[in-house]
Amino acid sequence: MHDFEDKWRQCLDGLDQAGRRRRLRTAGRAADGTLEIDGRPLLDFSSNDYMGLSRHPVLIERAREYAARWGAGSGASRLVCGNLLPFAEVEEKLARGKKAEAALVFVSGFQANSSILPALFDVKVLGAEPLVYCDKLNHASLIQGCLAAGVRQIRFRHNDLDHLEALLAQRKDEARPKFIVTESVFSMDGDRADVAGLKALAERHGAFLYLDEAHATGVLGDGGFGLAKGMAGPGCLVLGTFSKALGGFGAYVACTKTLRDYLINRCPGMIYATALPPAVLGAMDAALDLVPTLEAERVRLAGMAERFRVAMAAAGLDTGASSTQIVPVMLGPEERALGLARALEEEGLLGVAIRPPTVPPGSSRIRFAFSARHGERDVERLIEAVVRLAGRRW
Ligand code: PMP
Repeated sequence: MHDFEDKWRQCLDGLDQAGRRRRLRTAGRAADGTLEIDGRPLLDFSSNDYMGLSRHPVLIERAREYAARWGAGSGASRLVCGNLLPFAEVEEKLARGKKAEAALVFVSGFQANSSILPALFDVKVLGAEPLVYCDKLNHASLIQGCLAAGVRQIRFRHNDLDHLEALLAQRKDEARPKFIVTESVFSMDGDRADVAGLKALAERHGAFLYLDEAHATGVLGDGGFGLAKGMAGPGCLVLGTFSKALGGFGAYVACTKTLRDYLINRCPGMIYATALPPAVLGAMDAALDLVPTLEAERVRLAGMAERFRVAMAAAGLDTGASSTQIVPVMLGPEERALGLARALEEEGLLGVAIRPPTVPPGSSRIRFAFSARHGERDVERLIEAVVRLAGRRW
């Protein structure tokens, strides 16, 4: 037998040598909700809890209520006996909010993307192998879905619709089904896609648009229902998560009734996974009630991110194409990003260094994420520290 342990150790040693070994750190919460990592209190500029809902009393109370009423677990997949009444209620609220015909809840965003795409690309159903156009910066879960489907991704330059159109035009005479897979807000850059432009382009080329709104849901668009509100329909599926601005866990797609039914029948991540636990459904239900009422918080959140971008620009620091609550500070070499992240942490500020392979080589950065939990003083404190420390040599 192979010495598997030895192989894995060698792989880990390689990562160590390249300075890329990842380690889990223990996170805790102080009594006031402040984040603690390895016992140190930190002002958190790295979580995706953009609206601060993860600690909202209404979510916590409804999660508790649902657990008390429906149990700690759902016992089986939704197709067996796990399809508790709260699923229907959450999906109806979602479909209404997204202005879609239907919605379907999934266990997580990663699990949804990695199992829905193979179901959509099924050659036996489509009658031909599809052509799949993907933004170069798509999230790992979208890439995983393409890998699981065994399709070759045709990658277009990030958010470059002219490039996408040129690639589509090159093969316009091929009768193969076409899909465009992209995101409305990109997690490591905080920039936005031109979703209306994508929809028009998809329609012109008869392509199906698969749009991931993980980082827009709850934060952007009318009522917080994302940039693609009203776009899900016969040529477009919109996905989002409950795990970021909605403060809980799980994911959803907004789509047509037919596609919803197709996924219930053909998507293994739907068929073979145990249904989400009732407490999670309670938090989802509460978040969907709250999100449309949080317009003032969304305005304040956008203002804090903009204040930070303006201050970075004044200090000669690059925030890329960010126009949302996610603001990277581009630092280039990995050591610079790591050094600054460490120095900030010593001052009690958490902004995580993002390095290859998560982002392309030479584009290491610290990804700062703002949240409605933050106050103006928190933002000023971050600005002062980043400006003071970013110029150091690491
Ligand atoms: N899509 C995108 C664009 C994401 O950034 C993420 C999470 N980082 C996911 C999907 C996965 O969602 P979840 O965390 O709910 O599994």
